[in-house]
Amino acid sequence: MPKKERVLITGAAGFIGSHLCDRFLSEGYHVIGMDNLITGDLRNIEHLFRLPDFEFYHHDVSKFVHVPGSLKYILHFASPASPIDYLKIPIQTLKVGSLGTHNLLGLARSKKARILVASTSEVYGDPLVHPQPETYYGNVNPIGPRGVYDEAKRFQEAITMAYHTYHKLETRIVRIFNTYGPRMRLNDGRVLPAFIGQALRGEDLTVFGDGSQTRSFCFIDDLIEGIYRLLLSDYPYPVNIGNPDEITILQFAQEIIKLTGTSQKIVYKPLPVDDPKQRQPDITKAREILGWEPKVSRQEGLRITYEYFKSLPEETLYHREHKNFEQHIQ
Ligand code: UDP
Repeated sequence: MPKKERVLITGAAGFIGSHLCDRFLSEGYHVIGMDNLITGDLRNIEHLFRLPDFEFYHHDVSKFVHVPGSLKYILHFASPASPIDYLKIPIQTLKVGSLGTHNLLGLARSKKARILVASTSEVYGDPLVHPQPETYYGNVNPIGPRGVYDEAKRFQEAITMAYHTYHKLETRIVRIFNTYGPRMRLNDGRVLPAFIGQALRGEDLTVFGDGSQTRSFCFIDDLIEGIYRLLLSDYPYPVNIGNPDEITILQFAQEIIKLTGTSQKIVYKPLPVDDPKQRQPDITKAREILGWEPKVSRQEGLRITYEYFKSLPEETLYHREHKNFEQHIQ
């Protein structure tokens, strides 16, 4: 039997990372998952531990990364990714996007592996161009609360391109727009788990600002397909992956009220600093280069996600603080 090709996935216990592990295992790879479990949760990958083709390393990629044996691909998905997380752990957020990416680029070089890094629509900041094409340079406040995430991801793109140019490394950069689905953390502050959690607890739904800000939500299965195609493509420049179906946050709250059947109402809270007013991906490039576009409607995706949240043990609903935060602040 030929030996399986080996893939390293960082952030493996996170929302997107865990779905990537599933996908690569089902495609017949040997998957090495890595996570320091600050924001990741082993329950997301518990079902994989019995598989002979899955290994897990509990490691912080901001420190030197060693993986014995060959690697065909590296996918760097380790990072806090919600505004609440990076407000609480700003230094770690900066380190994993910068030092962590540097370590993984070095590992990719030594293994002659292709590396795909997870960038974000946050590189566009509060965008002045709408929808956002990859050619837009963005409108980011480097010293605002989101700066630690946005600038780490911008640095990540820069160093990844530098390794591509100077070391001829095979690199891929995906700019991920708002994504949702099963295994999101219920209490990470993101709008979808926030609204569903509030509906399930019988609380009012908190809309920040007047709710006129927009987002465009992509279901996780569509995102994973886009990432998989990008990795296998020969395109080294950033590609937006997201669903262009744009909606205001107020409309989104109303959809969640309808979906959950809650009798609670909408209450308004102050808009967080530097909260982008609008966000919608221009996915022309993904369509042309990858032949990709999203397939799952918001109605269908929200139904699946709601079923997932309903299936969680009830105490999860009230577990506001992530258990591992404090021990990791350094
Ligand atoms: N938001 C909201 N109520 C909440 C949580 C978030 O109105 O309880 C808003 C938030 O201000 C933002 C949008 O929903 O305008 C999306 O927020 P999220 O944190 O999910 O992602 P991001 O701002 O990074 O797109």
